[in-house]
Amino acid sequence: MDIPRIFNITESAHRIHNPITPEKLATLGAALRLKPGTRVLDLGSGSGEMLCTWARDHGIIGTGIDMSQLFSEQAKLRAEELGVADRVEFIHGDAAGYVADEKAGVAACVGASWIGGGVAGTIGLLAKSLGANGIILIGEPYWRQLPPTEEVARGCLAHSISDFLTLPELIASFGHLGYDVVEMVQADQDGWDRYEAAKWLTMRLWLEANPDDELAQEVRAQLTSEPGRYVTYTREYLGWGVFALMAR
Ligand code: SAH
Repeated sequence: MDIPRIFNITESAHRIHNPITPEKLATLGAALRLKPGTRVLDLGSGSGEMLCTWARDHGIIGTGIDMSQLFSEQAKLRAEELGVADRVEFIHGDAAGYVADEKAGVAACVGASWIGGGVAGTIGLLAKSLGANGIILIGEPYWRQLPPTEEVARGCLAHSISDFLTLPELIASFGHLGYDVVEMVQADQDGWDRYEAAKWLTMRLWLEANPDDELAQEVRAQLTSEPGRYVTYTREYLGWGVFALMAR
C-alpha cells in the first residue's frame, strides 16, 4: 500500500508537506495551549513534523497514520532524532475510516481531507476519535482570490472553481457544520514557496541520479513547467490555512 510514487519522489526531502512553515507550525502548537500528556491524532501525518515537534515542545502524546511508506519511515526517524520516539507512534496505513481506541484531545487532518471524502466527512471522521471539548484541526486550501475563469482554476490544479471556497465561505461552512472556529494559522506566499519550490531542487537532483527511471520523463516535464505554472496560478490564487474547531 502506498501513495502514487511521484509524490514520494517530489516530496522526499520535505519535512512538512504543506505550505505551512516550521515557524507557523510552532505558532499553531503554542496557539492551541497544549497541555503535556494531551493525545493528538493526525490522519495523513506525512513525515511527522507536527507530532514530533509538538511532542518535544509541549509534551503531547501522538499517533499519526499515513499511507506513504517513505514518509512514515521518515516520521519515525524524526521522532528518534528529536528524542520523542517514546511519545509518538507512526502507523503506515490507510487513514480512511480510522477511529482511535483512546479519545484524543486534538484530532487533526492537515492537508489531506480527501481521507474523509472532503472537509465535512473528515470532520465527522475526526469527531469519532475526539474526547469531550476536544479540538479538531483541519488544514485546507481556499481561494485567496476567486479565479476569473475555470482555466485559471485548472492552472491551480483544481478541477473547477467549485473545488474550493473563499476564506469567508470556508469559515462559514465550519459554522454550518456546528463548529466554532477557535483558532487559525494561515500560510502565506513564502510558505507556498517552501512547499512548492522545494520540490524543484528535489526533482532536479533526482533526475541526475535516476536518468533511466520510468518516471524520469514525467519528472523532467514537471520540473520544466512547474515554476511557471506555480507563480502564475497557485501562488496568486490559492490560500491555505489550519483551522481549529470545537463543537458548539
Ligand atoms: N499532514 C502532513 C502531510 C500532508 S500531505 C503535513 O502537513 O506535512 C498529505 C499526506 O496524506 C501525505 O503524507 C500522504 O501520504 C497522505 N495520504 C494520502 N492518502 C492517504 C490515506 N488514504 N491515508 C493516510 N494517509 C494518506
